[in-house]
Amino acid sequence: MRKVYKKVSGFIIIVLIICGFRYIDGNTSIYSLNDKDKLVEVTNANGNEKILLVNEKYGLSGNYVPEELSIPNILFSNGSSDEEKHVARTVVNPLEELVKAGKKDGIILLGNSGYRSYKSQEDIYKNRVISQGKKLADAYVAKPGFSEHQTGLCIDITNKNGYFAKGSKEADWLADNCYRFGFIIRYPYGKKNITGIEYEPWHIRYVGKEVAKYIHDNRITLEEYLQR
Ligand SMILES: [Zn+2]
Repeated sequence: MRKVYKKVSGFIIIVLIICGFRYIDGNTSIYSLNDKDKLVEVTNANGNEKILLVNEKYGLSGNYVPEELSIPNILFSNGSSDEEKHVARTVVNPLEELVKAGKKDGIILLGNSGYRSYKSQEDIYKNRVISQGKKLADAYVAKPGFSEHQTGLCIDITNKNGYFAKGSKEADWLADNCYRFGFIIRYPYGKKNITGIEYEPWHIRYVGKEVAKYIHDNRITLEEYLQR
C-alpha cells in the first residue's frame, strides 16, 4: 500500500513540474519531442523560432539525435574525435562564416568538440566517476542526456595553443562577435546560479541571429531569455 502511495505522489509531482513549466509567461510555449526532450518555442518578429533547451533540469532522451549531422569546413584541434567534428546542419553555415570572419580579423579559431552522443557522454561521465569519484564527476561533467552537446547546436572552440581563456585574443574576439553569426556564449561569467555551469568562454550555442543579438545586447543567458 505504501509503495502505491509513493508511486502516485511521484506521478503527481512529475505532472506538476511539467504543467508548471508550461506556465512560462509571454509568448513562450513548450511541447515535448518525446518523453524527456523539451523544445521551447519562442515567437519573435520573424514568426516562430524553436529553441531547444538543455540544462541540468531539462534533458534529452538516449535516442535523441539531431537531424542531418554534418562536418563543417573549418579547422579542428588534433584531439577532436570524428563524432565531435559534427554539428546539426543548421549550424554549419553560420559556423563557417564565423570562423571566416575571425580569420579576416587575424583570429584563428579551431573547432574542438561539437556533437556528443548520449553514449559518449555516458562514457565520459562513467570514466570520471571511476577516476575522481561521483561527487567530483557530478560537479564537472554533465550526466548523459543533460549535456547541450547532444543537441548538435553547440561547439567548443579553441585556439592553436589550446589555451582559450578570457583575455586571450581569440576568446575575446569570440565573445564580442559570435552573436553576429547567431551564436551566444552559453555559460557567461557569474551566471552559474542560472545556467548551472561555470563560465566557459569556449562553448558557443547557436540560437539564430535575432535571439543571439538580444541575449548579447542585454547580457543575459538563454534561460533568462526564455523566461522574459
Ligand atoms: Zn561545451
